Amino acid sequence: MLPPFAYSRPGHIQDAVERLAQAGAHVHAGGTDLLGCLRDGVFPAELLVSLSGVDGLAGIETRNDGGLAIGAMTTIAEVAGHPAVRQRYPVLAQAAAEVGSPQLRNQGTLGGNLCQKPRCWYYRGDFPCLRKGGYKCFAVNGENQDHCILGGANCFIVHPSDTAPALVALDAEVHTLGPRGARRLPVAKLHMPPADNPTRETVLEPGEILVQISLPPPPAGLYSAFRKVRARRAWDFAVAGAALALAMDGQRVADCRIVLAGAAPIPWRAQEAEAALRGKTLDDAVIAEVAAAVVANAQPMSKNAYKLPLFKGLVTEELLKAKGV
Ligand SMILES: Cc1cc2nc3c(=O)[nH]c(=O)nc-3n(C[C@H](O)[C@H](O)[C@H](O)COP(=O)(O)OP(=O)(O)OC[C@H]3O[C@@H](n4cnc5c(N)ncnc54)[C@H](O)[C@@H]3O)c2cc1C
Repeated sequence: MLPPFAYSRPGHIQDAVERLAQAGAHVHAGGTDLLGCLRDGVFPAELLVSLSGVDGLAGIETRNDGGLAIGAMTTIAEVAGHPAVRQRYPVLAQAAAEVGSPQLRNQGTLGGNLCQKPRCWYYRGDFPCLRKGGYKCFAVNGENQDHCILGGANCFIVHPSDTAPALVALDAEVHTLGPRGARRLPVAKLHMPPADNPTRETVLEPGEILVQISLPPPPAGLYSAFRKVRARRAWDFAVAGAALALAMDGQRVADCRIVLAGAAPIPWRAQEAEAALRGKTLDDAVIAEVAAAVVANAQPMSKNAYKLPLFKGLVTEELLKAKGV
């Protein structure tokens, strides 16, 4: 059952910022993650501040520089189906289309997708884990088959969002508004590595609202794609996934980003793999080298080494597609 909380639905963004300054206040966007967390007692809430009545937070527009501006309250379904996203940033449209189920994509928002809490069963369950302010990560000696193979440090969650790796691959930025004013930062810097603070998912300050996500114009020759492997065909989170953004010059990869999903507590840039690919022509030897580099520094836990060949295989397949085989 949901615990009691106060509810507020301001019409102006500045009012929302002010109301969120209250202790125990949380942003309510689509509620698909938030309400489950409250129902399961993952964290308490005194006040929910809905953004659904705030003007100007939803919708997708082309910017003057040819990029796109996506309001944080835009639904995942709209992102997945928008013609400009599908044509110019396929990796984002494909990632959005992989989120949950049609109901979740119709109700859930892009901002909420980026800020959602991890799905770790110890964090969501009745365990005093480090992320909830407790004393240890129970996954270390526990059921860690879904946990991370990279970047774990003290907490071994995997970052749950499908769209975040795609946005990092596209070098997108978030625009925020909070008690200390407006700021913008790369999506690549939005999520908090557990080594810096295992109790927070993002670097957003209390009361800071994610207002917009902006995409730069696609680079010349952009080939982009998102691939997600999950335990079952119905809605599920990524066991392993990758977002690729390759700036192609014929068969040569002039520049690239490879960002892993289901691998680490934050969307994980596979920088060794990017270095092995940048400037190279896509051939079988290069693809094999890149696929090996994707997991070269992985440190699997006791029950998730199965992810290593999964990541190698899916990156190999995606690069073969990019090559046109
Ligand atoms: C059964 C199920 C399956 C799912 N499968 C997937 C999946 O496959 N892939 C995937 O990526 N996700 C999945 N999700 C997660 C969820 O659907 C998405 O994260 C959704 O996009 C969340 O958006 P929302 O608008 O509902 O966020 P909410 O639930 O309203 O908010 C989520 C969190 O973000 C914060 N927040 C929301 N908007 C903002 C904002 N603008 N500024 C600051 N903070 C904000 C809230 O305070 C809250 O902590 C699944 C969820 C469920 C319940």
